[in-house]
Amino acid sequence: MYRTHTCGELRLTDLNNNVTLAGWVQRIRKFGGMIFIDLRDRYGITQLVFNQQTNATLCEQANGLGREFVIQVSGTIAERSNKNPNIPTGEIEIIVSELKILNPSEIPPFTIEDETDGGDDIRMKYRYLDLRRTPVRANLELRHQIAFATRAYLNNLNFLEVETPVLVGSTPEGARDFVVPSRMNPGEFYALPQSPQTLKQLLMVSGFDRYFQIVKCFRDEDLRADRQPEFTQIDCEMSFIEQEDILNTFEGLTKYLFKTVKNISLPDFPRMSYAEAMNRFGSDKPDIRFGMEFVEIKDLTTGKDFGVFDNAEYVAAICAENCASYTRKQLDELTNFVKRPQIGASGLIYVRYEVDGSIKSSVDKFYTPEELKTWLDRANAKPGDLLFVLCGKREKTQKQLCELRLEMGSRLGFRKKDDYQCLWVVDFPLLEFDEELNRYFAKHHPFTSPKPEDISKMDSDPGAVRANAYDLVINGVEIGGGSIRIFDSELQKKMFKLLGFSNEQAQAQFGFLMNAFQYGAPPHGGIAFGLDRLVSIFAGLDSIRDCIAFPKNNSGRDVMLDAPSQLSQEQLDELYLKIKNS
Ligand code: ASP
Repeated sequence: MYRTHTCGELRLTDLNNNVTLAGWVQRIRKFGGMIFIDLRDRYGITQLVFNQQTNATLCEQANGLGREFVIQVSGTIAERSNKNPNIPTGEIEIIVSELKILNPSEIPPFTIEDETDGGDDIRMKYRYLDLRRTPVRANLELRHQIAFATRAYLNNLNFLEVETPVLVGSTPEGARDFVVPSRMNPGEFYALPQSPQTLKQLLMVSGFDRYFQIVKCFRDEDLRADRQPEFTQIDCEMSFIEQEDILNTFEGLTKYLFKTVKNISLPDFPRMSYAEAMNRFGSDKPDIRFGMEFVEIKDLTTGKDFGVFDNAEYVAAICAENCASYTRKQLDELTNFVKRPQIGASGLIYVRYEVDGSIKSSVDKFYTPEELKTWLDRANAKPGDLLFVLCGKREKTQKQLCELRLEMGSRLGFRKKDDYQCLWVVDFPLLEFDEELNRYFAKHHPFTSPKPEDISKMDSDPGAVRANAYDLVINGVEIGGGSIRIFDSELQKKMFKLLGFSNEQAQAQFGFLMNAFQYGAPPHGGIAFGLDRLVSIFAGLDSIRDCIAFPKNNSGRDVMLDAPSQLSQEQLDELYLKIKNS
């Protein structure tokens, strides 16, 4: 037997028992004639003691140990004189009587402890060692708990987990596909699914009624902190339901996860239309942990010879409470923040409402204090507050002001990681117009159903058609989204036409779905949650990378496996691939 207990298990109540443990040497400390070792496994750390006086041979053996050696020890449990209240096993130690080295270790490239000296790159290269560290492992344990509880909840509601294929056909709508050459079909390619969207809809046509899958999805997009080329979705679909049923079921799942995993009881989630979210927060995923809502002031600013505002389509402000005392330096910092190329504002205008009631602004040349006061009043500002104003094209300015609002929220400590505020954003537009390509794209995906009352506008005013589509947002992060689907092949054809597909193109790419719809498709709809984002919200992480066992870096590389990598000429030939020398 390798061990009688794990390294996280023993307590004072086990005093004087003989036990055998196995694990990794985390730390070795020598004190006079004593050697103390922290022995680690997945479950915790137990202190081992070797005493020169009582067992010199054993002590010599222990002297030869190094960090990360795998050892097995037997001994008796004793009470520690110097207790460590920070770990559950901190009241006891093992007086070792037998030691066996199961496997020695090279000196690890970084310290494998909660706090490490290893930078990102080295930890990613040796990810298997990084995963030995408690905080990293804890993230994966949390991920397991969330996935496990999700399965329990959905199983209880009669959802069936069905696996869909990973080798599918390419669909040009949406993000870029990852593709896989087919050896047996020269010159042809599979694509990896961006999501099992059409397959889960087919399962509804098959009568599965309630489907879910915790499933890998692949999108060849530029990477950010909340994106990985492969990521995991909790993917679901239901038949004979309306939007309300989906929202209730998945609000229920979210509450259940918070309760079972974090013991937090969440109140009912508020709902907000897309239009309202854009007007109040300039974002379709507003962080509602704090206010600082947008106030439109265009009408109060025009006609005073200030060309910048006069020529702007949209002028809006946010009010930062108690910030009137901001220094020149702080204001410059924020101006530089909004002028960064990623945000792209041309400048930042401010109005200080001093504590004594006086008003000073960066546009004093154009506006009297009385005029500025009308802006302050609309924003409900009180003496001591600071107003920030941005202007320009409506949507662009809303995005910029949203970034500024989030930055101010962070600076003022309003975005606490353990304050969870969930929100449904509903009534998304069906379509989005791409100015560059001069055509409409589906805002969610081409299978999303327009709201029945808006169908008549599909020809006359497509941009105004709203969809039965919804997103779940937690703390400003889009955790999931879905929609009620089109289940009528004629309406689906019309949608493809709006998206610029010819009948032939639509048939070639989505013929399987439209044909299926001719054999009795039930009304259906669904949703998908991003599991990685959900776990990182639960864990309070800034990047989804930290809750993925083997993530890719920002250039999409797995530095541990050194992937992607080149293929041999034989492999290329077998796949009929020619690499063009650039
Ligand atoms: N397939 C969609 C997505 O990946 C989710 C859904 O509509 O169910 O965003």
